Amino acid sequence: MFLRPVILIVDDETEHLSAMMNALARRYGGDYRVVSHLSHEAAIEDLEQMKSDGEAVALIIADQWMPGLTGLEFLMKASAIHPTAQRALLVNWGDRNASVEVLRGCATERLDNYIRKPWAPAEVHLYPVIGEFLANWTRAHGPRLELIRIVGEHPSARSTELRQQFEKNGIPHGFYSADSQEGQELLAKAGVDGSRLPVVILLDKHSLENPTNEQLWDALGASDVKGGEIECDVAIVGAGPGGLAAAVYSASEGLNTLVIECEAVGGQAGTSSLIRNYLGFPSGLSGADLANRAYEQAWLFGAKFMFARRAVNLEARGDKRILTLSDGTTVVARTVILATGAAYRRYEHPEVERFFGHGIEYTAIGDNRIVEGLDVYVAGGGNSAGQAVTHLAKRAKSVTLLVRSENLDKYMSDYLVQQITRAPNVTVMLNTEVVGAEGEHSLERIVLLNRKTGEKRVVDTPFLFALIGAVPPTDWIANQLFLDQKGFVVTGPRLLEMQAPWPYERPPYQYETSMPGVFCVGDSRHGSGKRLAAAVGEGSASMQNVHQYLLNPISLSPHSDKQNRPILEPVD
Ligand SMILES: Cc1cc2nc3c(=O)[nH]c(=O)nc-3n(C[C@H](O)[C@H](O)[C@H](O)COP(=O)(O)OP(=O)(O)OC[C@H]3O[C@@H](n4cnc5c(N)ncnc54)[C@H](O)[C@@H]3O)c2cc1C
Repeated sequence: MFLRPVILIVDDETEHLSAMMNALARRYGGDYRVVSHLSHEAAIEDLEQMKSDGEAVALIIADQWMPGLTGLEFLMKASAIHPTAQRALLVNWGDRNASVEVLRGCATERLDNYIRKPWAPAEVHLYPVIGEFLANWTRAHGPRLELIRIVGEHPSARSTELRQQFEKNGIPHGFYSADSQEGQELLAKAGVDGSRLPVVILLDKHSLENPTNEQLWDALGASDVKGGEIECDVAIVGAGPGGLAAAVYSASEGLNTLVIECEAVGGQAGTSSLIRNYLGFPSGLSGADLANRAYEQAWLFGAKFMFARRAVNLEARGDKRILTLSDGTTVVARTVILATGAAYRRYEHPEVERFFGHGIEYTAIGDNRIVEGLDVYVAGGGNSAGQAVTHLAKRAKSVTLLVRSENLDKYMSDYLVQQITRAPNVTVMLNTEVVGAEGEHSLERIVLLNRKTGEKRVVDTPFLFALIGAVPPTDWIANQLFLDQKGFVVTGPRLLEMQAPWPYERPPYQYETSMPGVFCVGDSRHGSGKRLAAAVGEGSASMQNVHQYLLNPISLSPHSDKQNRPILEPVD
């Protein structure tokens, strides 16, 4: 017999409980078994019974304030029994104390999101939120839609790479081991003998044997243009938030726009499960959702995309800017926008990395109430670490800054050093690095190594914010554009301040690089905000520079001499 997955609600307010029970049963009763309890004890008992009966629980909803146990504490107990269930906290409108719990719960992944009460009318305030919870659960645990099937060896680096690519791009897929019966049947149906694994089988039954990334994305129809020589008004390198914003504005303003992306739509933001500080989304939104919506928007406006291609060279030819791509394609553009972002350095120890998103964060952006009253740690010696410390110290009981070098002022601005040394609840540990992390479900302890004495010590903490460096992928343009010492692209007035060669009559536009007609936005830009909204803002605003430039394009001839400085000269 098919068992409907369960939606369980626990709330000690009888009236509210029955209203919610009725609303959910009316809408979801056909597909889900909706159950409710007035006490957390009865709910836990029921959840245990469901577990022994083999029932799947899709969603658990708990009121935050119940006698004897908070909703968050209840949800932690409940998810120990049904770890795959979505967890929602019921919070009264305007309840500030509960919203601190919500932030903390979401940050440590003890909670998936919250529902405000009262929520009537359900169509407006309840069903859309419940729909999101159920969609998340179904995506992860319900029946899977498989647009693509991979048949390969298990384990195999290439199969894993393919799976990760589909995962990052939100393409539903399934993997079948070539020596399984299902794998053999799929290969037979596709009419291939399996000698060239992995085999990728598309929805239209078309199959590709051990395809390259380019062949794959072209077959998927994701790339709108094929190799050779492509002309456009605006070529955008990178489909992260900065590149996508530029693409939306460029295409919507009638410019022939091409976006080149080597990995996945959404860039860094696409890897964030929940972005909580993006304007207009109070309960957060997933980076992948944002990226897919922006991609669709740019595409609808007419932007063309080339996936699985990396820009590997940039040069000027008269008033054209030429990009060479990894598959040999030449893009002849009137302007180029570089939106190649930055990759945050992450821990290499797997035992530390496994707590990513469960207490170990690579950013301290956002609401610092999640650390209210807690002892937390920040690793890093640069300005981002310094800013994280001052931001977190306003709320945390204590913040300990872990710095690998022996001086705090080696890489950090003086004003931050001053603020840090004056803060009563901040401690600095020099010569120290994180070498281990421990915890059951989320981070509980970190292991510190004193690099000078070799001494190791274990400290308790639920949060480590690691701001251990950002690396912009700009090697390929280092010979063409003026970069700062860390490889970030210098733009606009900063070019003149940093005495970059600029032999042109007008000053550089705000996002213009040392090569006129080539712009840079987002995280790869020197001095950028390193925030999602900042990248989106810069991508959108750069379009004004593009229009200004196109009124008076500058012709350049390539210079033969390669150096880490602009190598272009204006043509008279
Ligand atoms: C896990 C995580 C969580 C975050 N959470 C938040 C948050 O909550 N709030 C917030 O404000 N910010 C957050 N950020 C920061 C935010 O995501 C970035 O500031 C933002 O994504 C920067 O956008 P971008 O377009 O400049 O670059 P990126 O997002 O880095 O995108 C750059 C894109 O360019 C592509 N690319 C690079 N080089 C080439 C090349 N040569 N050819 C073709 N393509 C290329 C890359 O593959 C990538 O897709 C988070 C970052 C991370 C990593």
